[in-house]
Amino acid sequence: MDAAHTKITLASRMICQRCVLPESKPDIWLDGEGVCNICREFDQQKKDPGGQVKFLESDFIKILNQNKSHGPYDCLVMCSGGKDSTASLYYMKKRYKLNPLAFTFDHGFETEEALENIHHAVEILGIDFLFFKSDFMKEMFARIASSDDKVVICHPCSLWYMGLTFEMAARFDIPLIVAGWTKGQSTNQPLMSRCGCNVHQAEFVSMSKATQAFLDQYTKENLKYKDFPRSMEEVLNKAKKRHKAMVVSPHWFLPTDPAVYVEILKKELKWKFPRLSYPGLSTNCYLNFLSVYYSMKNFGFTHYHVEMSKMVRESLLSRQEALKLLEINFDQDVLEMVRQKLMPNEGI
Ligand SMILES: [Zn+2]
Repeated sequence: MDAAHTKITLASRMICQRCVLPESKPDIWLDGEGVCNICREFDQQKKDPGGQVKFLESDFIKILNQNKSHGPYDCLVMCSGGKDSTASLYYMKKRYKLNPLAFTFDHGFETEEALENIHHAVEILGIDFLFFKSDFMKEMFARIASSDDKVVICHPCSLWYMGLTFEMAARFDIPLIVAGWTKGQSTNQPLMSRCGCNVHQAEFVSMSKATQAFLDQYTKENLKYKDFPRSMEEVLNKAKKRHKAMVVSPHWFLPTDPAVYVEILKKELKWKFPRLSYPGLSTNCYLNFLSVYYSMKNFGFTHYHVEMSKMVRESLLSRQEALKLLEINFDQDVLEMVRQKLMPNEGI
């Protein structure tokens, strides 16, 4: 029997006329002209000539020179199999002629397509590869997916991933951690979680509070997670005591358009877009679908809306393109499939 696909319906909200953020009080609100407070703040900062920092590739080369390795690897590259992190790996090896160690972690929900992309890249580029797979987080993920808490699944995951990355950098004495974060994912701060645990950014205040409240309670109740970090600051402080490593992304410094490097990756590294992923033209794990669904339901937006809004403000992406990429492109059946993977014993 072929069941009809069940469409996802979400309450519609007013969207900022300039970026793609919806009204989500108290953090995001629209003024009389339909423009959000984040866009207005951006305008204010633009007026201040010291407020805008533009990075150049020469700045990146300076960073590489200042962080030379004494061990076998020059940098540890966080690889998710997506276009941006695969391009980072490619640039570190080919453009900057360094010897990277590729690092991928799989919490059990990475897609076969993403892992295949990574395998092709490390094989073709001849790069050493560290693959860490563990179901350590499964219970926590299942708890989040089955509770009414507004915690965003991606947040604890990125805390764990960042912590592991620093541990690996320490293990191999690597001074530089390279991520695939784009300009929309960067901030003036030296490090930000890919998934928006940045408590200092207005758009993330409510999400971060929900995550923090969940982790405070859950890690107290569950011995298995008693040492689990509660915030990115905690991850960074712990890491700093053991080993100093700088986190940086080449995309912050390069003028390259993703359309350009996707073509290179396809041609040289057999890289492919996955069949289905949210947002459009991205590569993410299965749990991302659940995370996106709950973020939309609870807050009216996801961290992808924040990242793309930033790119729209900086004229790196058109508002129309962003709206297209952010359209919900999956249905209830996909959510059910992920829930089954996460909680096989729950008869849904
Ligand atoms: Zn806006």
